[in-house]
Amino acid sequence: MISYDGYINAQNRAVEMIRQAGIVIHESEIKGMDVADFGLDDLYREGAQMVSLFNTSRISAKIIALFPGQTLPEHWHDQVEDDPGKEEVIRIACGNVYIYIPGGIDNHTSRIPKGKAEYYSSRQEIPLGPGDQLILVPGTKHWFQAGSEGAVIYSFSTCARDDLDKFSDPNIRRKTVIDQ
Ligand code: ZN
Repeated sequence: MISYDGYINAQNRAVEMIRQAGIVIHESEIKGMDVADFGLDDLYREGAQMVSLFNTSRISAKIIALFPGQTLPEHWHDQVEDDPGKEEVIRIACGNVYIYIPGGIDNHTSRIPKGKAEYYSSRQEIPLGPGDQLILVPGTKHWFQAGSEGAVIYSFSTCARDDLDKFSDPNIRRKTVIDQ
């Protein structure tokens, strides 16, 4: 659960970052911003601020603002009926981001939130900066963390079905509960 004040503070801060990155968003999109603490009650450690630009049955785009060092927890986009799952392109608009995917010979563990190693199995690190992008094929586990300046990220994808995303941490509740 997140307090109403905490929600508004995070929203304002995220909007400022998005605007500083030169991205124009409407008031209605700001109102619809998803400030996600994933039910873990520690937004600035594990969380994300996301604005959906559009989401049709075939295509979707979001802007994700991450505060300095904030981690979007490990998840993947599973098959739904005859849809193989969300294919996602992560492109950095501003700041530095460390994306982690499975495989490789690396075993980067230093950025895993303390005490959460069992829920962060993807340890191949891909550092991305402004203008860099990475395509995540459906079903690939991934998590990411902003560098010390925070980051603004585009997520372009096939249809997003956020409530069906799978997370490695069983304690995660995807839908944010705001304490009014
Ligand atoms: Zn994803």
